[in-house]
Amino acid sequence: MSMISVTEAVARLRASSQVLVGSETVDLRAAAGRVLACDVVSAINVPPADNSAMDGYALRRQDWHGPDQALEISQRITAGTPPLPLTRGTAARIFTGAEIPEGADVVVMQEKCKADGHSVLIEAVREIGGNIRPKGQDIMQGATVLKTGHRLRAQDLGLIASLGIARIDVRRRLKVAIISTGAELVEPGDEIRPGQIYNSNRYMLEALIEKWGFEVVDFGITVDDPKIISDVMAKASREADAIITTGGVSVGEEDHVKAVVESLGHIDLWRIAIKPGKPFAFGDVMGTPFLGLPGNPVSALVTALIIARPFLFDCQGISHPDIVPLRQIALFDVKGGPREVYHRVRSGSDGVEIFGQQSSGALYSTCWGDGMAVQAAGKDIAKGDSIDVIPYVLFN
Ligand code: AMP
Ligand code: MG
Repeated sequence: MSMISVTEAVARLRASSQVLVGSETVDLRAAAGRVLACDVVSAINVPPADNSAMDGYALRRQDWHGPDQALEISQRITAGTPPLPLTRGTAARIFTGAEIPEGADVVVMQEKCKADGHSVLIEAVREIGGNIRPKGQDIMQGATVLKTGHRLRAQDLGLIASLGIARIDVRRRLKVAIISTGAELVEPGDEIRPGQIYNSNRYMLEALIEKWGFEVVDFGITVDDPKIISDVMAKASREADAIITTGGVSVGEEDHVKAVVESLGHIDLWRIAIKPGKPFAFGDVMGTPFLGLPGNPVSALVTALIIARPFLFDCQGISHPDIVPLRQIALFDVKGGPREVYHRVRSGSDGVEIFGQQSSGALYSTCWGDGMAVQAAGKDIAKGDSIDVIPYVLFN
């Protein structure tokens, strides 16, 4: 079995992906992190009318002839109340956000004015339009402001609210089944016996799935028994939109996942030129997409971020650009090899340091730092080189 590149593995997965979820309408307040199932088109102008950017006085530019001229204050316009048309030759007291009266074409900030109750002396007046926020400055009526597939952030919700929209169509959350395979696994909190280890992948993957806005369908630990694995897989395919397992996809005798998935659907075992993470399985269980991640926790994390994430985003209907690594200075030397390597690193003002223990079982390497340096296959990294680094936050 030859190795395929990371790029090819991602491309193959994405080529077979499709949006697996329908839509539902939710209140704006429940929409953070959800994915738009429609374009958002504005039915209104924002702001709806010309309004003042300052506390000051609104007037017609040509009515002002110099700093000694007292202009009568003909009305007082506060935010939230509609103004009257401006009387020729007068000024209107106006406040930030208040509508510009018809006939006025400039606002002078109050710091440049001297007023008694009835009239105002104005030091200097800006050009026409000065200190006025025109109607539609932010958004024009009819404009498409957000597109289907966009994952809603805080500012997007603010924008949608500014259009007066209270409920919005979003994709139903993708349900992702997580199955930890391995007879050696015990849950934290349970008693551990010799030969056993705690299940870490489950907690790590479930946190990722939730962070990405999907719904976890949790299946806990499944021991290395074909019958049990088969039952759990079948149940997962009924209850979830996609299935992720960890462990059991290497070629050991106790790795039963392959045979089970083959009997319920189909499976391709891939050797991806990625380190950590080489063994990776992809297929379906009774029509439900199946991703078999390696058991080693660092391999599971790296393949989840690099290989599974783009595929799952597609299944959720998220439009997502490829992640663009940052360029940073390496503070370490490392020889290149046949696989693309994801080194666990930490960035500082001088560049990036590498963690000393890069074993695929050493999960602490991922917690010590803030990202991964990507080393292309066959390429050495020398101290001082400019290298690609992906901070973990870019995987949000
Ligand atoms: P496997 O892919 O099943 O051969 O597992 C590879 C290595 O990862 C073995 O040392 C397993 O004990 C370990 N491993 C598998 N699953 C988990 C898990 N859920 N949590 C922690 N370690 C695991
Ligand atoms: Mg195993």
